[in-house]
Amino acid sequence: MAQFEEIVLESGALQQVAPYLKKRGCQHLIIVADKNTYEAAGRSLEQSLLGENELNVELCLINPNETGDVVADEISLVQLMIEVKPGITDGLIAVGSGTIHDIVRFVSHKTGIPFISIPTATSVDGFTSAGAPLIVRGVKKTFPAVPPVAIFADLDILTKAPQPLVAAGFGDMLGKYTALFDWKFSHLTAGEPYNEQAAIITERALISCVEHAHEIGKRSEQGIRILMTALIESGIAMLLFGQSHPASAAEHHVSHYWEMEYLRRGNRALLHGAKVGVACAEISRVYHDAVERGVFPGQEPSVLREFEGQITAWLAEVPSESLIRELLRQAGGPTDRRELGIDDELLERSLAEAHKVRDRRTLLRALNEA
Ligand SMILES: [Zn+2]
Repeated sequence: MAQFEEIVLESGALQQVAPYLKKRGCQHLIIVADKNTYEAAGRSLEQSLLGENELNVELCLINPNETGDVVADEISLVQLMIEVKPGITDGLIAVGSGTIHDIVRFVSHKTGIPFISIPTATSVDGFTSAGAPLIVRGVKKTFPAVPPVAIFADLDILTKAPQPLVAAGFGDMLGKYTALFDWKFSHLTAGEPYNEQAAIITERALISCVEHAHEIGKRSEQGIRILMTALIESGIAMLLFGQSHPASAAEHHVSHYWEMEYLRRGNRALLHGAKVGVACAEISRVYHDAVERGVFPGQEPSVLREFEGQITAWLAEVPSESLIRELLRQAGGPTDRRELGIDDELLERSLAEAHKVRDRRTLLRALNEA
């Protein structure tokens, strides 16, 4: 598991970056941001670093693509690679969203130059991830990369992030309900590897978010602190286990399916967590229908009979579709896939095919393959 040198989550965390870099001996830095995250945090970080006379700071502003989205694709990766000075650049600083982090963590991995994480919104649990989802030749795939060496999450910045980003982070956390269920299910029915500690860390992080959904929806300092802590802990659980099982299963596969369809159509990208939260409600309905009401897309999978007691008990911990939508509403995010532009045809197709996007033995896969 990666050892973070620093995890700072407080007001004014940005001011601690320069002393940390000097202590670490970093002198030639590249701040990586986009136009929005530069305004949110990049500019004040740049000024604070330039105020320290031993630090050389360059700025790499990642340009949006033709649909207006900043994406982690070949073009963005090369844009950053061009700025890296071999043998000179000794630190990369990701200032922004999950996407900016994915660009930086991949370049950090390939160049061996460590990177520092400055999240500008509580939008996703991937800040600490060791994998980078990248779009290469139009297809999104996760590639090996590295986690940051340190995280400076400044509550003054995070509480000012736009509401949809905050709600997306909450949606990414709610997805842990079905992810944790699927993980236990796949361990029981197909022998997939399991780690109790990673499951407990993730579950605790999830529960603390659910208990504070209103606070998170209000973007109060307490709500944002709780959400950011949960997102970091969920990321740490994945590092501990070494794979994404604790945080991602059928709800992420459905979200991924929608994302690929949007890429093919040339539509603007949707927020990751907004998709995951809504997909979690859909998966909850499919799972409760199957296990409690005997409604199946095809035949009843034999494992449901075989392990009925255990599966029923685990599913009882997954809230109903309507409760998941209510929690999403409290956090101020989209609650229905129609708000995301997902039509009936795409929903049906995604529920029937999403299990094919990853080699995982989820209940969705068992239902579709029965
Ligand atoms: Zn996620």
